[in-house]
Amino acid sequence: MRTHNLAVIGGDGIGPDVTAAALLAMRAAADRFGFALETTDYELGAEAYLKTGVALGEDTVEALRGHDAIVFGAIGDPRVPPGILERGLIVALRIAFRQSVNIRPVRLYPGITSPVRGVTTENCDLVILRENTEGLYTAGGGSLHTGTPNATALQNSVTTYAATKEIVEFGFQLARARRGHLTLCHKTNILVHAGQLWEQVVAEVGADFPDVTTDYVHVDAMCQHLPMNPGRFDVVVTDNLFGDIISDLGATVQGGLGLAASANYNPTGSAPSMFEPVHGSAPDIAGKGWANPAAAVLSAAMCLAALGERDAALVCEAASASVLAELPTFAGPDMGAETEGLGIRIAERVATIEPGALGDPDRS
Ligand code: NAD
Ligand code: MN
Repeated sequence: MRTHNLAVIGGDGIGPDVTAAALLAMRAAADRFGFALETTDYELGAEAYLKTGVALGEDTVEALRGHDAIVFGAIGDPRVPPGILERGLIVALRIAFRQSVNIRPVRLYPGITSPVRGVTTENCDLVILRENTEGLYTAGGGSLHTGTPNATALQNSVTTYAATKEIVEFGFQLARARRGHLTLCHKTNILVHAGQLWEQVVAEVGADFPDVTTDYVHVDAMCQHLPMNPGRFDVVVTDNLFGDIISDLGATVQGGLGLAASANYNPTGSAPSMFEPVHGSAPDIAGKGWANPAAAVLSAAMCLAALGERDAALVCEAASASVLAELPTFAGPDMGAETEGLGIRIAERVATIEPGALGDPDRS
């Protein structure tokens, strides 16, 4: 039997609960399509850090490297100063495993009402590609000098030709398989050095993709165009910080953070990719059963697709969408079910729904 060997990092807050739902759906899909999942849990996050003082040890990185993929929940805890887990764990893993492309689909599923007027299933189907290893999130560098009236914080931003080319090439290939349009989103009018490099790489790579049209949108203007006219976008390529911000905006357009999936993707296959919801550990609702597990299940679907399990991926996506369409609201006490119950409902639907339920199964 085909076997996929997964590392599972539930993490903090709502992370373990939504990850449990994701695994339930993945197992239901594995049973249905005749493959096996082997899973290994890694206790990483706030508890482990508070106990050991280490966010991510070298041994753990090497153990994780041996898996086919990593299923990740969320990290972040009010007891740990900001940055220690976010930078020391998640950003560190993205960099260590060269997960240079963060894939964040923004799709309004049938039967779901966007909080933004005028957004429909027909006009909202785009993918944000966020560069995942550089920009202002680069490891190291920067400094903070406080305690004087001249207190100054320096935060370095790095943009390399190699990493930019990797994500831009991925973007053009994805656009070619979709509707043939790529948008560069940046702030070239202010961040002129990084901006020029991005523009240069898009022009250079684009020369090999004459069938893909391109345009450019400043990131601030994107905050108007994305909610007001999502239909003008197909593939959006952007840097690390801008991608972080506009993909939360995209999540809102598609119904909220409880619905937004992502893949931290290593396009070369040199190390495992990692699949996680866009949202964080949501300490404000942790332990209440109010978290929507759909984002985690949709991320699991991206994991199955990357492992070559196309039908399993399609039913996990379709089952999530179908259960979401039945909910009165997508988060909080009025959701109509608790996290665990929703996970069970999605997994039951995985067992029966048609892989083509959401339309063309070969769309990218
Ligand atoms: P968040 O994404 O955790 O929460 C933002 C808001 O969305 C909250 O009101 C939350 O209740 C709601 N929300 C999030 N996920 C939801 C879900 N599945 N269902 C329903 N509602 C949901 O962002 P935050 O509050 O800014 O950050 C909380 C912690 O998470 C911080 O420590 C932050 O650093 C961390 N964080 C981690 C990741 C990650 O693990 N990749 C990503 C973002 C934030
Ligand atoms: Mn984010």
